[in-house]
Amino acid sequence: MIELILATANAHKAEEFAALFDPKILSIKAAPKKLEVIEDGSSYFENAKLKAQGYYNEFKIPVLADDSGLNVEALSDELGIHSARFGGEGLTDFDRANLLLKKMEGKTNRQAYFTCVLCVYLNDKEIFYFEGRMAGSIGYTYRGSSGFGYDPVFIPNDVEGELTVSELPEWKNKNSHRALATNLAQKFFSQRN
Ligand code: IMP
Repeated sequence: MIELILATANAHKAEEFAALFDPKILSIKAAPKKLEVIEDGSSYFENAKLKAQGYYNEFKIPVLADDSGLNVEALSDELGIHSARFGGEGLTDFDRANLLLKKMEGKTNRQAYFTCVLCVYLNDKEIFYFEGRMAGSIGYTYRGSSGFGYDPVFIPNDVEGELTVSELPEWKNKNSHRALATNLAQKFFSQRN
């Protein structure tokens, strides 16, 4: 079993991770304190590493960090690694999801996917990455009350009835980009001696 501290200030992500990890393989706890890490990398991988390294350098214990975002084909430069800041500072999740609906008005290509990259930073020489994706499309209205971020406007593929992720909390726990990346990490560490 490996003990990791979680490098995130996002309470929603922390909750989702807590439900996803099997503590017999990877035991996750909150970091002793939150750090401000500047995420100025040019990819999800770089940003996940920056966060993990920031926490590792401070506390000198193994860290789990993630970087995630929504990739929208029709707005490829605006979201992606910039998803958390889409529309500028001072907006709420609700504002951002509605801004996305507005910018998608009239667009026929509504394809999108969520990405989650996990960085498990055991020490400066042992750094591992795992990526998960959830494919779908941007809906036309804001629907549902669970989850966070862009969940109420994202309709995953492979689910009947055009439901948003916000309307599918149990499905999300098993199939999200975060769940898929987590499964890969757990599989890897359960097989590693
Ligand atoms: P991060 O904290 O830098 O990884 O930013 C990720 C951003 O992507 C969040 O602020 C959300 O806007 C969005 N995001 C990531 N994962 C999810 C998810 O599971 N549901 C909805 N939005 C998400």
